[in-house]
Amino acid sequence: MSGLNIKRLDSQLADFKAQMDKLLAWEAVSDEKVNNIVNEILTRVRNEGDSAVVEFTNRFDNTQAQSMADLEMSQERLQQALDNLPQDQRNALETAAERVRSYHERQKGESWQYTEADGTMLGQKVTPMDRVGLYVPGGKAAYPSSVIMNAMPAKVAGVEEIIMVVPTPGGEVNELVLAAACLSGVDRVFCVGGAQAVAALAYGTETVPQVDKIVGPGNIFVATAKRAVFGAVGIDMIAGPSEILVVCDGLTDPDWVAMDLFSQAEHDEDAQPILVTPDAEFIDKVEASIEKLLPTMERKEIIETSLRLRAALIKVTDMEEAIEVSNRIAPEHLELSVEDPEALLPKIRHAGAIFMGRFTAEALGDYCAGPNHVLPTSGTARFSSPLGVYDFQKRSSLIMFSDEGASEMGKVASVLARGESLTAHARSAEYRIKD
Ligand code: NAD
Repeated sequence: MSGLNIKRLDSQLADFKAQMDKLLAWEAVSDEKVNNIVNEILTRVRNEGDSAVVEFTNRFDNTQAQSMADLEMSQERLQQALDNLPQDQRNALETAAERVRSYHERQKGESWQYTEADGTMLGQKVTPMDRVGLYVPGGKAAYPSSVIMNAMPAKVAGVEEIIMVVPTPGGEVNELVLAAACLSGVDRVFCVGGAQAVAALAYGTETVPQVDKIVGPGNIFVATAKRAVFGAVGIDMIAGPSEILVVCDGLTDPDWVAMDLFSQAEHDEDAQPILVTPDAEFIDKVEASIEKLLPTMERKEIIETSLRLRAALIKVTDMEEAIEVSNRIAPEHLELSVEDPEALLPKIRHAGAIFMGRFTAEALGDYCAGPNHVLPTSGTARFSSPLGVYDFQKRSSLIMFSDEGASEMGKVASVLARGESLTAHARSAEYRIKD
């Protein structure tokens, strides 16, 4: 056992199931105080519009805006940020944006239809949303990669207008974030964050247009506000802390595995890094790597807390059981750090993203592999998927009966409608039945 006291679990021990349940227990904090603050902000922005947005922004982000005009970034300003980037940053951003665009092009849902023998046509029409809001977090750190990951699928879906909000504490704007917005085709950018930004997007103000859906991660004020406005607008998801599960056969360099675990742990004290392996000695080696590498990390305090609070090193009997444990966890990020990941793939049922093989560091997926880095957390990969083009498209059903089809189906509808005592339904269908 190390000084860090990282939890060790063993599938052979009697309390393994109970230990797993404890490890995975995570309740999104529902804080009464935060709820009250957020509700007040939502109500005031809804009633007072721009002036409330400006007031809350000045209060929480320590800015000195006089009006919304002071908080909007022009397209020229976005272009300037892109033009003035150092060449290596511009190249990296352009490579990432292009790869993300290209991957998401393949996700585009298309309309379809078919015609039955009597001429009746049925189908599905796919349309993009008109306008979406993109929340880019910016309280404690700036996330240009989040701009690309959230805006690009909307762009590919054909959304007409993308409105981005990002807090700029102390009025400090992040040039990479603005450059990423320019590259991703964002239409308008407001330097506003927190619940006031979510409220402005959900209800609209004199300056901020009302959107149809709000996507993007944020802190508890943002998450609570998104939950509250759901219904008035769509939302993508309520994301929990980041997670990584490394399933390893024991043959990967333990330093690589330790660093991959750190790469998620450094996001957040509540992030959850887990290793599952059938090789007990490998657990010792990874732990030794963790001890060795931790002091070299810039964010070592956050990593250490995450390792203490939520990490686990899990010993299983074989790879078969490793996959069972993985499916139980349904991780946001799953690394299959093994010789032949494709052999394991058919057995994986739940995971946000699957990183296959020793060379596939999860970090590449965060920035530039191409797939989206906005992924289901806290076991929600059991029923949900990465953010994608489909989140910005809607489907309408198409129904066009021929007179013959209307007559035939009219008889069926009539029987069912009368069974439900819905006479208007029945008669409406019966009018179209041919003698
Ligand atoms: P943020 O933009 O989410 O929040 C900043 C805003 O919070 C401020 O503008 C302010 O309006 C509001 N706020 C702060 N204190 C307040 C108070 N006392 N009362 C009312 N409002 C208050 O930025 P953040 O705080 O840095 O959090 C970003 C979060 O997003 C982190 O949890 C990070 O892990 C997460 N994140 C997730 C992903 C992902 O893909 N899942 C990516 C990037 C960031």
